[in-house]
Amino acid sequence: MSGIFGVLGSSNCVQELFYGVDYHSHLGTQYGGLAVWGDNGIPKIKIHGISNSQFKSKFQEDYHDLEGNMGIGAISSAHPQPLSFLSRAGPFCLCIDGQISNKDDIVKEVLERGGSFSEPEDGTINDAEIIAKLISSKRTYVEGIENAFERVEGSVSLLLLCREGIYAARDPRGRNPLSIGKSEGSWVAATETSSFCNLGFSPYKDISPGEIMLLGVDGPKEVKGGCGCGRICTFLWIYTGFPPSDFEGVNTEIVRERCGSYLAKRDDIVPDIVSGVPDSGVGHAIGYAMESGRPYRRPLVKYTPGYGRSYTPPDQSTRDRVAQMKLIPNRAVIQGNSIVVCEDSIVRGTQLKNFAIKKLWDCGAKEIHVRVACPPLLFPCVYNISTRTRSELAARKAMMALWGKDMEDVSSFLDHNSPEFKDMVEWIRVDQGITSLQYQTLEDMISAIGIPQERLCTYCWTGKE
Ligand code: SF4
Repeated sequence: MSGIFGVLGSSNCVQELFYGVDYHSHLGTQYGGLAVWGDNGIPKIKIHGISNSQFKSKFQEDYHDLEGNMGIGAISSAHPQPLSFLSRAGPFCLCIDGQISNKDDIVKEVLERGGSFSEPEDGTINDAEIIAKLISSKRTYVEGIENAFERVEGSVSLLLLCREGIYAARDPRGRNPLSIGKSEGSWVAATETSSFCNLGFSPYKDISPGEIMLLGVDGPKEVKGGCGCGRICTFLWIYTGFPPSDFEGVNTEIVRERCGSYLAKRDDIVPDIVSGVPDSGVGHAIGYAMESGRPYRRPLVKYTPGYGRSYTPPDQSTRDRVAQMKLIPNRAVIQGNSIVVCEDSIVRGTQLKNFAIKKLWDCGAKEIHVRVACPPLLFPCVYNISTRTRSELAARKAMMALWGKDMEDVSSFLDHNSPEFKDMVEWIRVDQGITSLQYQTLEDMISAIGIPQERLCTYCWTGKE
């Protein structure tokens, strides 16, 4: 998972770039990077590891060394970026958000043609470098971007910084968002529109799947139209997106509130209090509380300074440590209460059980009713960096425990009335050690977003592309 941000203006843009990239810090924990096009035509890049400290503290000092009126940057869970390249189209810097599923094939093809890659730092070739090779093999940047999008399986959005400005593009599969914002004489392109407002930008347009835009001194220009196809990631609204962000014009917090409302409408319990597992569970819980009329309270409070998402660190022990430390239970709110706990999703289930449920029981909860804003996750993501394998998913573990095998046909596990679905949920409930467990239906989740299903990726649940 990555967040990318680019800015172009008539004067030095480095401050906007610094804060704009920082506003994507929830999307990655491994690397942060900034690239600025200097007045001398030579790009300057700064990249730091951010696994042990926040982006701002790592870049606070050295971003002052950068100067120029256009730049791009990224927060990444996988590889360092932006990277700079020299191609026959000219020099460029590149950062990407997405996943290349057929990277081994592309790497082999490039090497067989006599090309080369930088020595991989961690044994895996940098995805941005793979895309850059595909871009560099064509005469122009636009032909190169088209070539990259044709060759790549998976899904990629990108920002390419060059002499002419910033190319902002989304591949035809369109899983990863990219939006343009404007202010007086300046333009931005970003994964999260929540990065716009405090920097003085307002939303201008969402880049469509397959579309390539050039942000130049004269403003944005469409150099290739969208394909009218593509499916954006549903999980942006459920979990990964920042609450004030709009994707395809639909606000994330409002969707979460609607998800909570749908969960409450289908519920028959009357809890003492309603809560959410911070951060993304909070919007779902507020919607549940508004619909049910039961009070929203905070039995688990996130200690914000210094803690990122526990989903994004790549190794399990780091995820567990972050998860254990970041949520602080409040006994005064928990003791003796029956509690609805809204959660965005149950991935493996270990963090919910060990670092939220256990704390609530230990602090004297009377009942714990978990309400999940999406259906059971049945497939790991193939369109963006995923830290989960299929066999790790709680629903798959239930299948193995109950039927002794993994199921290919999952239709009955999406049908809330099927015996298989009920058995699976009951197994997860017992495993979690909670009073009751209910999942959102696929139909309600899609309805909460309000975009036609054929424009949404629901692969996590259906396994269908
Ligand atoms: S598979 Fe899931 S996480 Fe990946 S793009 Fe589709 S909905 Fe999003």
